[in-house]
Amino acid sequence: MTLLAVTDLQKSFGGVVAARGVTFSVERGEMLAIIGPNGAGKSTVFNMVGGQLRPDRGQVLLDGQDITHAAPQKRFRRGVGRTFQVAQTFLSMNAAENVQMALISCRRRSLGLWAPARERYREKAVELLAQVGMAEAADIPCSALAYGDVKRVELAIALAGEPKLLLMDEPTAGMAPRERAELMDLTASIAASRGIGVLFTEHDMDVVFGHAGRVLVLLRGQIIAAGTPDEIRRDAQVRRAYLGD
Ligand code: ADP
Ligand code: MG
Repeated sequence: MTLLAVTDLQKSFGGVVAARGVTFSVERGEMLAIIGPNGAGKSTVFNMVGGQLRPDRGQVLLDGQDITHAAPQKRFRRGVGRTFQVAQTFLSMNAAENVQMALISCRRRSLGLWAPARERYREKAVELLAQVGMAEAADIPCSALAYGDVKRVELAIALAGEPKLLLMDEPTAGMAPRERAELMDLTASIAASRGIGVLFTEHDMDVVFGHAGRVLVLLRGQIIAAGTPDEIRRDAQVRRAYLGD
């Protein structure tokens, strides 16, 4: 069964139609990029999948279940995880504690018994950090980590919720080119090995064409093209509208 099926999503803000007839799907293990110029509607679509925005029309199915009107927390429990454009880690806490906190809160345990609960999840947290290449940073405060490493910790935090679908809002914003490729290689290999579907927005075309399995191009709220990176690169309409030909 298709992991995420989005059908005919529509959203207007006053007179502006930010999304119109948006239909697409994400399969398990797939990396799907949404690209388009500023104001195209990428964040609007993203937020309707994450639950931060309610569509005026259309449907969002996860594993065949209708989550169109579910609150973000409920979607999270059903398997919709997300990372944010701005780092969301607690800088005073070390990398392991950030992941421990995510492990505890996604199990809806109280943080009141933080000390004993933290110990229980230490091993699992370090294991998740190891999966993103950050095991040796477990005891380092996030404030002392390089920005690219904080992004890796964020990926471990997102994985703590055992997502089926991972929404990544400009995951490589603010990173150096080599770090970008590394983070996206890592994301792609984790997604493939765990069967996680990844939906990401990105304005770095090297990241998009190098790491997406498929690409959707949005323009003024509508999908004007969808295909593999090669197909999108060759699409005349996309080149005119977006890639600057
Ligand atoms: P993108 O992420 O591709 O840059 P957005 O989804 O943020 O595009 O915006 C699409 C359109 O919807 C833009 O014209 C934007 O001004 C408008 N828009 C987005 N969010 C809001 C909002 N909360 N209120 C009013 N207009 C909005
Ligand atoms: Mg946006």
